[in-house]
Amino acid sequence: MNLSIMDIPLLFDDLSDGLWDLDIKNHLISLSHNASKLFGHKQPVTLNRKEMVNTCIHKDHKNKLHNEINSLFENRIDVMDAEIKLKSLKNGLKWIRLKAKTISWDSNGNPTRIWGTVTDISKRKKAEEEIEKERKILRTIIDNLPVTVYAIDKNGRKILSNRADCEIIGAKDESEVIGKTDIELFPGKVGERGHNDNMYVIVNNKPVVNHEEYFLDKNGNEKWLLTSKIPFFKGDNRIAGLVGIGMDITEQKSLQQKVVESETFYRTLVNINPEGVVVTDLEGKMTFISEKAYKKFKISETESQIGKSVFDWVAPESSELAKAYFVEALGFKKPPKPRELKFINSEDVKFWAEITVSPLFDYTGKTTGLMVIGHDITDRKKAEQELIAAKNKAEENDKLKTALLQNISHEIRTPMNAIVGFTSMLTECEEKQEMDSYISIIQNNTQQLLSIISDLVDISTIEAGTIRKNETTFNVNTILRGLYNQYSIKASEKRLVLDLKVGLSDQKSSIITDQTRLIQIISNLINNSFKFTREGSIYFGYVPKGSFLEFYVSDTGIGIAEEHHSAIFKSFYQVETSLSRKYGGTGLGLSICKAYVELLGGHIWLTSKVGEGTTFYFTLPFNRISPH
Ligand code: ADP
Repeated sequence: MNLSIMDIPLLFDDLSDGLWDLDIKNHLISLSHNASKLFGHKQPVTLNRKEMVNTCIHKDHKNKLHNEINSLFENRIDVMDAEIKLKSLKNGLKWIRLKAKTISWDSNGNPTRIWGTVTDISKRKKAEEEIEKERKILRTIIDNLPVTVYAIDKNGRKILSNRADCEIIGAKDESEVIGKTDIELFPGKVGERGHNDNMYVIVNNKPVVNHEEYFLDKNGNEKWLLTSKIPFFKGDNRIAGLVGIGMDITEQKSLQQKVVESETFYRTLVNINPEGVVVTDLEGKMTFISEKAYKKFKISETESQIGKSVFDWVAPESSELAKAYFVEALGFKKPPKPRELKFINSEDVKFWAEITVSPLFDYTGKTTGLMVIGHDITDRKKAEQELIAAKNKAEENDKLKTALLQNISHEIRTPMNAIVGFTSMLTECEEKQEMDSYISIIQNNTQQLLSIISDLVDISTIEAGTIRKNETTFNVNTILRGLYNQYSIKASEKRLVLDLKVGLSDQKSSIITDQTRLIQIISNLINNSFKFTREGSIYFGYVPKGSFLEFYVSDTGIGIAEEHHSAIFKSFYQVETSLSRKYGGTGLGLSICKAYVELLGGHIWLTSKVGEGTTFYFTLPFNRISPH
């Protein structure tokens, strides 16, 4: 029976696939119900084979179909299976899958009849085309990314490598690298490390993110990549490999290195600089402190002062000035003139420094803070101050010396005139009584003259720094009593009360000091008291105070105004009073007293009230000497 495809029961029409039957000899192709429908026929049809090929098959696929059918004709294949593109048909059919098998041969073995199936694969093909299109877009993106993108299978072999990756490896295209491991792609240790890293990610299922790694490019130059490797999985959730992305950070790395190098350079420069350097923000908080600055403020670098205010380092007396300078510098484009400010270190020691403050700017030109550079000028300041003091002293000395010359010449001339005058009168004098009174006047004036000359000699020895002390052991009570006796006559002459109070018993009042100087000091003070006291009393004496004896000479005289208290001990200084004019004097007595008291290891001071009187005190070291 000659069975045709038309005779196949409708059973098959439940399939979406259609059936066809090719009668080779007669070039007729019969289509089943479904197959006919696919090609737009309502009923099963039988068509001329050539005509059907011409009307339905896309010109690009005619040859393909021809070759496939020929393979069957020539018995080269058993089953034909081809996907064929069609001309656009009205019902939207675009792609078909043709499967065919020879079912009968002539006596020569040539096929006479072929049966086949036809399936509409337009949808699948369309999806595949879409996928392909998307793949191409993705590939274009991947290839044009400025980062390396690659995929590696679970054995560490490349399965994808974009253009940047190929470039880094030095391959012309992907085909050169596909299937190779990093060991094969990169020489030596770099390859080994890369492969090990890949296998680590795959075996441990752990991504590696932003890992910096270096390799050598094809020219042997060191290159740096910032790499991330993320595992990917198959449908069954088993690891299939990894996807890697690497960014070439060679330039950033070299920039980073340059920044580090330049930072080190400037830090060294700042630290070897003998001047301290501090950088602050706009509020004066310190953001950088050089080693020298830490040292200068006697702070260990381990006790970081970063974030603290730079004004904490300024001495209170310079604080206002420092803040004003800071504000001024912030408003400048270039550093204002240096300033001299006082600072205070962690040990509360103050020192002077000359400071230069320079504003700092960011890349937009905005002021970000200040750089403060300073060097210690304490020695210079001290020298300056000493110079000023010396100048003032010289000026003062000059004034005082002018006063002295006038004063001294007056002071010397007065007794000299008396001496000369009365000496010449002596020659003409006949009466003894008159003669005695002249002699007494001459003696008094000679005494006065001698005392002035002695004062002048004393002060010049003091100023030359050649005074020496001659210490002996003597009884201070005895000395004071001697002075009391000496001055009591004068006191009764002037109707003044003179009193002496000794602070220790005679057994305990032995002292080791320079006796002559002690007598000179007390005499000077008592003389002054007599000079400036018209009525009342003069008390003197001493009281023991610890390891010192505190002497005093107190009077009820004219007193000395407070403003003269410190100057009174200076050479040639006199309080301008009618009395000092009246009684003369050189202004040397107290400065001699002060020099002697200090020579003997004590100090001198006074308390006084104008119109009420004056008390001079001085101390001398007193080491108790046990009586024999
Ligand atoms: P002077 O030879 O002028 O007395 P001093 O150095 O002894 O020199 O005294 C300096 C000045 O101090 C005196 O000129 C006088 O103005 C004042 N002075 C000293 N002692 C007394 C005193 N006890 N009472 C009031 N003024 C005094």
